[in-house]
Amino acid sequence: MSIPRRAEKNMESSQFLKSLEILSDLNDQEISFLASKAQWIDYEPSAPVIKRGEIGRFLWIVYEGEVTVVIPAVGTSGKISKTLERGALFGEMSVMTGEPAIADVLTSTACKLIKIPRESFSRLIAGNPKTLGKFARLITDRMIQNAQTATQPDLLRVAHQENQDPYDLNFSSASEPMKILVLNCGSSSLKYSLFDTVQALPLLEGEIEKIGSGDAVHKVNTPRTSRKDDQKNVMTMKDAFDVMLGTVTDPACQAISKLSDLNAIGHRVVHGGAAFANAVLINNDVIQSIRASCDLAPLHNPYNLAGIELMRGLLPSIPQVAVFDTAFHQTMPSHAYTYALPHELCEKEHIRRYGFHGTNHEYVALRAATWLKRPVGELKIISCHLGSGASICAIDHGRSIDTSMGMTPLEGLIMGTRPGDVDPGALLHLMRADSMDVERMDRMLNRESGLKGITGKNDMREILAGAAQGDVQCTRAISAFCYRIRKYIGAYMAALGGLDVLIFTAGIGENSAEIRAGVCQGLELFGIHLFHERNQLSVQHGQVLDVSQPDAKVRILVVPADEERMIARKTLHALGRVITTEQALLLGSRPVPISVSAHHVHLKQSDFELLFGQGKTMTPKSDLSQPGQFSCQETVNLIGPKGKISHVRILGPGRKESQVEISRTEEFLLGIDAPVRESGDLEGTPGITLEGEAGVVILEKGVICAKRHIHMSPEDALGFGLRNRDVVRVRVRGEREMIFGDIVIRVDPHFRLDMHLDTDEANAAEISSGSVGIIESIQHRNYM
Ligand code: ADP
Repeated sequence: MSIPRRAEKNMESSQFLKSLEILSDLNDQEISFLASKAQWIDYEPSAPVIKRGEIGRFLWIVYEGEVTVVIPAVGTSGKISKTLERGALFGEMSVMTGEPAIADVLTSTACKLIKIPRESFSRLIAGNPKTLGKFARLITDRMIQNAQTATQPDLLRVAHQENQDPYDLNFSSASEPMKILVLNCGSSSLKYSLFDTVQALPLLEGEIEKIGSGDAVHKVNTPRTSRKDDQKNVMTMKDAFDVMLGTVTDPACQAISKLSDLNAIGHRVVHGGAAFANAVLINNDVIQSIRASCDLAPLHNPYNLAGIELMRGLLPSIPQVAVFDTAFHQTMPSHAYTYALPHELCEKEHIRRYGFHGTNHEYVALRAATWLKRPVGELKIISCHLGSGASICAIDHGRSIDTSMGMTPLEGLIMGTRPGDVDPGALLHLMRADSMDVERMDRMLNRESGLKGITGKNDMREILAGAAQGDVQCTRAISAFCYRIRKYIGAYMAALGGLDVLIFTAGIGENSAEIRAGVCQGLELFGIHLFHERNQLSVQHGQVLDVSQPDAKVRILVVPADEERMIARKTLHALGRVITTEQALLLGSRPVPISVSAHHVHLKQSDFELLFGQGKTMTPKSDLSQPGQFSCQETVNLIGPKGKISHVRILGPGRKESQVEISRTEEFLLGIDAPVRESGDLEGTPGITLEGEAGVVILEKGVICAKRHIHMSPEDALGFGLRNRDVVRVRVRGEREMIFGDIVIRVDPHFRLDMHLDTDEANAAEISSGSVGIIESIQHRNYM
């Protein structure tokens, strides 16, 4: 009997994979799993395989022919080329570390290459300790070698710069094409978009409005067509869903042929309360939490939730993800989210600033960073989302630190029909003088105020036209609208301690040169210089327009909003995080030891000498948990504008820049407002005075509240299924069990597994030394 060709091929590929040293510990079942996931691809000579800057999605193996790895010339070192032959592996560093590829790989001869998707591969090695060990050694050796190469940081910088999609806004990290449906359910409207991860534009975008009025309309756009039909019979959300699902599978739309082609559904949810700092896969617990937030957003959450429940009923086997408008703002410090109302009341009623439009604020920040070819982690950004709802957000190194909308979307900027900031006393007065009840007040604040309140119109185009014809109320509304934004920009520049990028987005921000000019007027002193000719240009969807003077300090960018794309991307990532978490669970949850780091100081040698005398060096006192690091005999006093902390330990060895790490409580003691930052990220941080035995040093910058982090080796990272810079949540079993979010993973061959909390955090969980934490889930990862 002849063996079918496919089976023959599988056998051949299994045998070849098994013959590779690095895979030799896999059993037959594991090898055939790998072979079933592998693709064998034929290449012509000189064909590109991996482009520098690309995110690693596949592990590659040379089966026939030769490939060349080309590392670019940087600094003083020339270009390096290496040839790889049959059996050689490539792409593994980028797959395992999450860094973009630092080299181009192209075929030198005609080749047959094997390509294994990252997910299949990592799942397999997570379950096979020996193979995991081999990969860990390979990666560790390579990392040590790289660390000794002086050009490594430059190579990585080049790779980051050449990465066309560092934040995965075009889904370039998906290793196989996925179709994602994005839904936004309102009280009488349904908006939907269908994305295919390998296409630049959505396959389809639709909107059904006036549901239940007997007058519903359905608009559908595809990249080729546009249509609008009456759908008078659409009386309920269920009717609307039927129309939508019929449309996405309609052959005329050329989107998908059957509903089971959908890989995931992403739902916009307006309010996630304080429970969600990122998008999550929907399960019954998540539904409960969304239901609990309905009181906080009665105009939105109940409808969002109804959409989720309906969709789960219709398509129970397709994973569904909730993406929250509030999640991005969960990084706000308490001084930004606290209202000065009685504390007990705030606790009981969950009254605090949550902020909204977070999905778009985050999207435009990432889009701007991509366009500028700079890491978002080194930028200070103010994003002005000016649509019919409007809000402004201060983004420090990728984290929202303040935003103008509050507990509800009523606070802050002047909007189409909402007033933004108002003296609460005026509302009290109306309640007394006009006997306004809650319903009346609600209607006035949500529907009759803002631009509409001032002018009778809520469309900015009409108001601009009115003003051009001399309508005084229109002129006044425009001035007030721009002034409010300008005032917030000033405030947020103070909150950020500077500004690199000012972004305009959403209907008015994208389309009105006049409003942008009105906002920027008078801000020249702060480095905000609008380039008036460029400001007149219009910007295409998916593009970025720089409207600032070329030599100005602050880039002013117009970035079209794209919440739907961001929801699709967050949906994809939430699924990726779940898969990784499940993999990690396969290994059993290994506990992470916790160290409590008290305040400490890192010094550069020249500052050490100024403090302790010329030619003096650090005197090691005891070793720290991380190899090579030690605490010193020497201590310094920290002197802030308000107070002093004495005998603060210096940690060695010396650093390139001096840095002071303190806790929130100590910030207060010293009178310094330090941002939460990763060690070494000191741009724009406050300074402090250091006092040593022999002298005083005034640092211009360098005080941070260190971001919580876990040190781990590459082997630990592979074992946990984590990558460098992932952000995780950890459950800590102290006297009081607590979950800490926002913990950054830092991978280095020299690191020992160890989680660092500061004294405030440790006190909150009543942690003593010897405590351990369990990594529960990945909260954030730059790509899938
Ligand atoms: P939403 O917040 O409802 O999503 P959009 O972001 O679409 O709203 O913004 C809608 C607002 O944008 C409308 O108030 C409209 O007046 C305004 N807008 C759209 N185009 C222009 C334009 N060319 N000039 C001024 N305003 C505009």
